[in-house]
Amino acid sequence: MSFVNELYQEVILDHNRQPRNYGDLPDATEKAEGYNPLCGDRVTVYIKRDGDVIQDVKFVGAGCAISTASASLMTETLKGKNLAQARVLFEKFRDMVMGNLDMEMDDEDLEKLVVFHRLSDYPVRVKCATLVWHALLSALEKEEKAVSTE
Ligand code: ZN
Repeated sequence: MSFVNELYQEVILDHNRQPRNYGDLPDATEKAEGYNPLCGDRVTVYIKRDGDVIQDVKFVGAGCAISTASASLMTETLKGKNLAQARVLFEKFRDMVMGNLDMEMDDEDLEKLVVFHRLSDYPVRVKCATLVWHALLSALEKEEKAVSTE
């Protein structure tokens, strides 16, 4: 394993041990739940929006290290972004974890999310990483029902 991969793995483990923005958000404007039956990951995302801008985003849930770290890193990345930027990030993130993104071209927008780029080597974990993003999109689209990756 290369140094870079070890570093990425360390970031994922750190976010799993100490998730950032964990907890509910009493003045949330949107909320959505997600469930990944393949792994048993559950997540609830809270968003506080001011017009088009995501002012704050938090999550609660229980799942594997990948799902928790992905939620933690997503919340860090999304604060201050507008809805269009959030959608672009979701698409890039999904393409990246599925191995469909040219990393040379696109890693600036993704910021810390690049730590998941090796996930395409582990297809069964892809849904763990994208679960929280599906919940986010569901919240932004104001669907009340829980999302499932299945
Ligand atoms: Zn999982």
